[in-house]
Amino acid sequence: MFENIPVEVGLVHEGERVRKNDMQVELGGPQEPVKFEIVRVRPADAVEDGKILINGPDLSDMAEGKHYPLGIIVEIAGARLEPDLEGVVERRIHEYCNYIEGFMHLNQRYDIWIRLSKKAFKKGLASLRFIGEVMVDLFRKELPLIEKIQVTFITDPALVTPLYEEAMKTYEARDARARGLSDDDVDVFYGCALCQSFAPTHVCVITPQRYANCGAISWFDGRAAAGVDPKGPIYAIEKGSCIDPEKGEYSGVNESAKQRSMGEVSRVHLYSAFGYPHTSCGCFEGIAFYIPEVDGFGIVLRGFRDVTVNGLPFSTMADSTAGGRQVDGFHGISLEYMRSQKFMAADGGYDRVVWMPQETKERLKSFIPESVYGAIATEQDAKTLEELRSFLLSHNHPVTKRWEEDTPADAGDTTPGRQEVSLFSGRDIPLNAGGFRIILKNARITAEKVIIQPIRPGGERHGTQKP
Ligand code: SF4
Repeated sequence: MFENIPVEVGLVHEGERVRKNDMQVELGGPQEPVKFEIVRVRPADAVEDGKILINGPDLSDMAEGKHYPLGIIVEIAGARLEPDLEGVVERRIHEYCNYIEGFMHLNQRYDIWIRLSKKAFKKGLASLRFIGEVMVDLFRKELPLIEKIQVTFITDPALVTPLYEEAMKTYEARDARARGLSDDDVDVFYGCALCQSFAPTHVCVITPQRYANCGAISWFDGRAAAGVDPKGPIYAIEKGSCIDPEKGEYSGVNESAKQRSMGEVSRVHLYSAFGYPHTSCGCFEGIAFYIPEVDGFGIVLRGFRDVTVNGLPFSTMADSTAGGRQVDGFHGISLEYMRSQKFMAADGGYDRVVWMPQETKERLKSFIPESVYGAIATEQDAKTLEELRSFLLSHNHPVTKRWEEDTPADAGDTTPGRQEVSLFSGRDIPLNAGGFRIILKNARITAEKVIIQPIRPGGERHGTQKP
């Protein structure tokens, strides 16, 4: 099928990493402000089947070790295709690109990060045309709904920017559709198992008020995908009975998660980062991380390059969050979920959020309640936990009330946030020691003091920030 491609193409290459030293060239990624990939459904006469266009320098024209902007536009046509399917088809770009030996694709939409290895380049993978050919073949084979497809790569900086702005408007229009619809209005949610090849126990549950972790699939997208391919990776979940409306626990979701995770995940709290939180594969747009010292949550999006207020960068916390596990206090989230009224509702919602980057705060301004907006610190207000504590006190943040409530009457040290804090609790807490895996069942760990030090983990997980 891929005789004309100079490298191997297949599932075996999914999950390969291209390290900086092995990299021929980088497209998109954190150093490039403008990058995107998008799928658009077009009328049949607007698509030239199999056409691949490259607007700007090709891979062979790019200097070794450098980074470049990139836009990928996939235009598709087919009698049964509808715009609701765009987001779902778009997510497959990530999957198909990763089948290509020496071609690493991370993230989605406006966050894409691609690296080509020197080895693959030397083997002849020196043109984006090959990438386009693989995409065209795989899309046609895997999604027979697509009758015509053309792919355009844009690397010319002057052309990428206006197309990026157009793409941003399309993403926003897609996301806005699901706003206004509540989880109580529907009987069916959708599940996505696309990322199970990287995190076998991860199952996304997509509801009107809980957008997919990757930020690429809405409830409407799920409905469209499950409608045309009910046996595919995106499937319907009958809600069943509501077990806990505050935490967002449903019998149908629990049953589905148990089945799809091979028994590893038997309960899911959709709106909480504690107890039985939604799992995270590694594609999440951001992380809500618990800060025990102030009993609140910090938020960090993938694009934030600095360390957060707890001294850890996104990449380190991504390792703790990813892997399809239910990790108390490390919660993979999408930007659109942060716009939902159910956003971590069981944990206090925005009344529990104490820190986020300034840029994220601005972006979410109209979705954060006015009552707490000014009391959420950013990197400009607090760079350390001490500074954060002072900021929260001086701005009368709602979490400071929790400090008073949590402090025992006879406690010797009454400094807010200095009491014993619940560090982790959960059904299973795995520990690795001396070559053994120890699992603490139904454990709750508390600590008088928490010291967080960055470590360099041995392994990496799908979508985490250090390729
Ligand atoms: S993050 Fe979730 S919704 Fe997005 S592709 Fe992966 S499994 Fe599907």
